Amino acid sequence: MPEQNKLPTLVMKFGGTSVGTAEAMSQTVQIVQNSRQDWPRLIVVTSALSGVTNLLLDSAHQSARGQVHQLYEAENRLRTTHDAIADRLIQDLARSVQVKQEIGHLIAEFSNLCRAMAVLGEATPRALDAVASLGERMSVRLLSAALEAAGVPAQSVEATQLIVTDRVFQNAHPDLKATQERTRRVLEPILAQGRVPVVTGFLGATPEGITTTLGRGGSDYSAGILGAVLPADEVWIWTDVDGVMSADPRAVPNAATIPELTYREIAELAYYGAKVLHPKTIRPVIDAGVGLRICNTFNPQHPGTRLVADSAERSRGEIKAVTAIRNQRLITIEGRGMLGVPGVAARAFGAVASTGTSVPLITQASSEQSICFAVPASSNGEVIQALEAAFAIELAQHDIDRIWATEDVTILTVVGAGMIRTPGIAGRVFSALGQRNVNVIAIAQGSSEVSISLVVDASDADLALGALHELIVTTNTGGAQ
Ligand code: ADP
Ligand code: ASP
Ligand code: MG
Repeated sequence: MPEQNKLPTLVMKFGGTSVGTAEAMSQTVQIVQNSRQDWPRLIVVTSALSGVTNLLLDSAHQSARGQVHQLYEAENRLRTTHDAIADRLIQDLARSVQVKQEIGHLIAEFSNLCRAMAVLGEATPRALDAVASLGERMSVRLLSAALEAAGVPAQSVEATQLIVTDRVFQNAHPDLKATQERTRRVLEPILAQGRVPVVTGFLGATPEGITTTLGRGGSDYSAGILGAVLPADEVWIWTDVDGVMSADPRAVPNAATIPELTYREIAELAYYGAKVLHPKTIRPVIDAGVGLRICNTFNPQHPGTRLVADSAERSRGEIKAVTAIRNQRLITIEGRGMLGVPGVAARAFGAVASTGTSVPLITQASSEQSICFAVPASSNGEVIQALEAAFAIELAQHDIDRIWATEDVTILTVVGAGMIRTPGIAGRVFSALGQRNVNVIAIAQGSSEVSISLVVDASDADLALGALHELIVTTNTGGAQ
């Protein structure tokens, strides 16, 4: 490990709401300022200002459909949102003008890209990444200038210089070895000067330098990657809630912070829809032995959630949280002749994968005469078509009788290490739903003993979520363990 790595190193990631207004960004600046005393090597990763990535992508899609009249308004919104923060947080007039100009150039780039899409009549994944990346490219300039205005020496850095990825636009995968080499080469000199690099979340670039993105919500992942390759001692994810909670506080108002979660638990929670952490963040961080914490920019005194190593004595078998993935459909492939058809599952999932759709859940059918899995409702039509094409012969011969989808469903997942081994918990889950007349359409148990997923009709989702959350409270306060 290089000599300078012996100094405590912290990667802090700030989400869109943490930089979305002048008040929020000044809170972020204060957190960075305060952390410098304990962390001589500090790396900041930031998202775009809240709402900006959506605005950029919506504009791109509309442009590709020939609707360019809204571009003027989008440009204005981008300019006024960023400029308002610059006006409030950067006192030095020359510096403020400079930052606004840089952001103005990026807005012009946005406009040019969208107009090119309008001419071509299409928005390719590569072009969409070029547009989506602009939000973070704007926010790093603003945040680093705001930090400097507060006396923190900072430097904006584009992650296209650091994170090397494959060419899977909109969902790129990093090459950690190449990323480590570049990250150290670019960041170490900045850190050695005592400056704080302010790095764009969400982005990377192919080895040839073409901009890619790591998937929506991917700034958390950027922080995990940088923390792993430097390596840092800790990665802290600053967001707008008090850490990871027993449910999404927007859906369950009495949700409570979970002070400690194991890596397996958080992985399951993130995978099954807890937006508070991007699921891909966890892997690089565990592999590199880096600490992970989730905390609240707007309540920095709160300890938030600390991630801890998986260990038997921590797995007390209680339910810790419940998550929801909404807007799903369950697809079933069924037929009495299926037993005789070779490789049905492999071919089915191959057909689904060919549409670029990911499958969040597969359920075990009671007989071996059907395969059932969930896909996002938005991909349903495309997936059914791909399956019908893949099994055209079997359908014609009636080895497969039909391929069909439910109406919209929600996948609810209860998470807690050791839960499934604990007698009575699964029973309580089902009776809580039964008492409220919620019909469970399908069940899946993770291969780990950390979660149970239930599929319910979309119209039952909130009732079921509340019922399962009450169970957490009862189980954890005096219920049987
Ligand atoms: P950021 O912009 O900081 O990345 P996100 O909006 O991506 O923030 O994630 C934070 C949001 O995640 C919270 O505002 C909350 O509504 C949602 N969320 C969903 N499930 C959970 C959970 N179990 N605990 C905490 N927050 C959750
Ligand atoms: N700005 C990106 C998005 O909205 C990445 C992130 O916020 O994590 O998806
Ligand atoms: Mg996020």
